[in-house]
Amino acid sequence: MQNIIELQNVAKSYGNTIALQLNRLAIGEGELYLLAGPNGSGKSTLLNILGFLTRPDRGDLLFSGERVDWKRGTMTRLRRQVTLLHQSPYLFRGNVYDNVAYGLSLRGMGGVKAREVVSEALATVGLDGFQLRKHTELSGGEAQRVAMARALALRPKLLLLDEPLANVDQKSARVLEEVIAALPSMGTTVVMSSHDPDQQQRLPCKPIRLQGGRLAAPAMEEERTFLRHLLPLPALQV
Ligand code: ADP
Repeated sequence: MQNIIELQNVAKSYGNTIALQLNRLAIGEGELYLLAGPNGSGKSTLLNILGFLTRPDRGDLLFSGERVDWKRGTMTRLRRQVTLLHQSPYLFRGNVYDNVAYGLSLRGMGGVKAREVVSEALATVGLDGFQLRKHTELSGGEAQRVAMARALALRPKLLLLDEPLANVDQKSARVLEEVIAALPSMGTTVVMSSHDPDQQQRLPCKPIRLQGGRLAAPAMEEERTFLRHLLPLPALQV
């Protein structure tokens, strides 16, 4: 399996706070990763680095094997392949169509082609027909689905999701979870941060766990180690 992005010896601090310190993290192409960890463990910092929005203080990023040089020309090309969706997305004034088509128009796509892509992206999140709704006429969950459609319309190779289901109603959460689960098979690699411990059971995903800006052992592994330490009986299999 090829890695879409790899971090090597990456560190990022804010003043005296080390937000992230990773020896190596490789994100395999066509996978769904669930990023977990307590508040302040570095999840947002990692997503911003993966999205090329924050430059680490040190270390290297490889995108599809290419070493990222952070020069403007390179970054414009690379940023077009990655999209970050926030927990509370910002929708522009205007209607749903304007919002979903915005990124496409920046890339020179308009007319019939744009209408087709917008309609397809909205259908994916169960909102085809919402094109003319004003952004003020959407529920929180619908707004998040529109933001997801806006991200999908750009067909990113890597989609980064910062707690996308935190503020949405149950129906929208279910729709979004189904969309997210299907993305890897459609060629989009996903890294999603989440506070929901059950999500790991529901989604076919690989866990990444951060603790104090570092990679932590997966929860199960920590638990096993703890049990082995407590009960060092040779017959006990944990
Ligand atoms: P998480 O997303 O897991 O809550 P963050 O990546 O937001 O974690 O934060 C990691 C650490 O870096 C925290 O201690 C946080 O306070 C600090 N931090 C993050 N962003 C900034 C910033 N812009 N300025 C100062 N400190 C920050």
